[in-house]
Amino acid sequence: MEFSFFYREEMISEAKQTHYDLLVIGGGITGTGIALDAALRGHKVLLVEKNDFAYGTSSRSTKLIHGGLRYLKQLEFALVKEVGSERAIVHKLAPHLVIPEKMLLPLREKRGYGSLLTSFGLKLYDWLAGVTGKDRRLMLTRRQTLRREPLLKKDDVKGGALYAEYRTDDARLTIEVAKKAFAHGALVLNYCNVERFEYENGKVAGAVIRDVLNDKSFAVKSKVTVNAAGPWVDTLRKEDGSLQGKRLHLTKGVHIVVPRDRLPIRQAIYFDVAEDSRMIFAIPRGEKTYIGTTDTNYNADIDGVQTSRQDAEYLVRGVNESFPGAELKLQDIESSWAGLRPLIHEDGKSASELSRKDEIFESESGLISMAGGKLTGYRKMAERVVNLVEKKYLPPFKVRGSLTVGARLGDGAFINYKSVRKYLLALKKKFRRIGLDESQAHYLVNTYGKQSDLIMERFNEMDEPVLELRLLLAELWFAVHYEMVGSAQDFLIRRTGRLYFDIHSVRTFGKEVVNELANYLKWSEEKRDSELVALEEAIHRCVGFKQ
Ligand SMILES: Cc1cc2nc3c(=O)[nH]c(=O)nc-3n(C[C@H](O)[C@H](O)[C@H](O)COP(=O)(O)OP(=O)(O)OC[C@H]3O[C@@H](n4cnc5c(N)ncnc54)[C@H](O)[C@@H]3O)c2cc1C
Repeated sequence: MEFSFFYREEMISEAKQTHYDLLVIGGGITGTGIALDAALRGHKVLLVEKNDFAYGTSSRSTKLIHGGLRYLKQLEFALVKEVGSERAIVHKLAPHLVIPEKMLLPLREKRGYGSLLTSFGLKLYDWLAGVTGKDRRLMLTRRQTLRREPLLKKDDVKGGALYAEYRTDDARLTIEVAKKAFAHGALVLNYCNVERFEYENGKVAGAVIRDVLNDKSFAVKSKVTVNAAGPWVDTLRKEDGSLQGKRLHLTKGVHIVVPRDRLPIRQAIYFDVAEDSRMIFAIPRGEKTYIGTTDTNYNADIDGVQTSRQDAEYLVRGVNESFPGAELKLQDIESSWAGLRPLIHEDGKSASELSRKDEIFESESGLISMAGGKLTGYRKMAERVVNLVEKKYLPPFKVRGSLTVGARLGDGAFINYKSVRKYLLALKKKFRRIGLDESQAHYLVNTYGKQSDLIMERFNEMDEPVLELRLLLAELWFAVHYEMVGSAQDFLIRRTGRLYFDIHSVRTFGKEVVNELANYLKWSEEKRDSELVALEEAIHRCVGFKQ
């Protein structure tokens, strides 16, 4: 069986017949990480996701694998140590997808921390995370800082610092983890919503799941159930009747995307916003620069979170204050996304002050819920949950130990970043020969790694004369056959990131994508038309605030 909608019926029939060790609810990075860890240890695992993989927060983050410098200020040393050390591990697991990125931290007159404190803080940051050699922090003079980033407001820059982080694509990381879990025997299904739990002797013994695509429900059995539903964790705890004690506190974070030439920074920058002293990122990615994030309390519809005009204006003001020459305007924004942090409530703390630590809640019924945490720490979070499951709930009640540290992601994975660069160089040459833009080679390798070989094989077999469209359709073929794509949005948002970083291609070729999907998945005309409308709505969600 391939990881494809073509096998969906067989998969669901298998789910109905199997008695699982572990049912994982939620196909974000937390749930897929847990499924992979448990499957590698030899457990029988079913993961269900009510929408598409990474539909929730795991496609809407800042897309950094980072140690969280600002958590030092909150004295969260253990958190910084763990996620900081995880960066290098996740980079090794997927060097094409988790890419080293030097971050520039400008130091300003009468703002933030002074040079001495910053230098010490970054040294501590490196030390906690075990950063060595060339990757260690480097303090810069005013001249060096402005040479690195001439766009910065010149009057008040007094120096800067460079330190090491990694950038990624959160949704791609999630799908690669899901694919790996599937390859190791876990059954991993999207568009399957857990509606209620089933109990035996007062303990959760499975769940009733609705196949969202045909509205049919079915029951599954499992010895242990883990709730990894991100912002929806408390909805499921409530369903279980165990929403007591600690609760989630959702905060909203927004990012905006502008053409690179509207904010042509040379590298990723972490800078403060004068009006509230919060730190935000500006990160170059291909032909675009993205900026974020906000951090505001959120109490409305979890599924309906969107960028507001206020969010976008705050980020634009923040950019213009630090990079006055940019004169960025709301109209420059090409796309945006908004996500919810599933944090744990602490009385009297503001959104930005809440801890990013993960926590596990165990209910009387045996439901295990995991909340909080970071994309970066997904592997260790999974290890903690599966250790608990083994120790307390699964005979012989012994921890077998996590094996994820050796489980490379992205089929035929690269050994290191050097080999990624070599592969990219060869692909760029090929692209020049064919007449495709070199930036497309970058995009392909950073998105699919060596799986690009399969996509290029398909590309070579096709006769579509518009090369850009041919490449897009070859990617779609791959995503349908190997990445469980069931809608245009799955493909254009969560497999390729195009809606955020290349919205032009979505507007130009969206209809072709829907038509091709209709052929693959044998959609009726009515279904095809509703997909086109849904795609239009998704585009509107990214830019609607501008009206
Ligand atoms: C603005 C922002 C920026 C961030 N930046 C970073 C960063 O740069 N680096 C970093 O390390 N971390 C970052 N984070 C944190 C990180 O993104 C999250 O910690 C992580 O993505 C949470 O993943 P999750 O799997 O727990 O939740 P989610 O990704 O939300 O997954 C939960 C899934 O459960 C599914 N679900 C819910 N209910 C059901 C049900 N009944 N049945 C089946 N499925 C269900 C949902 O559809 C959803 O897909 C950021 C977060 C935000 C909001």
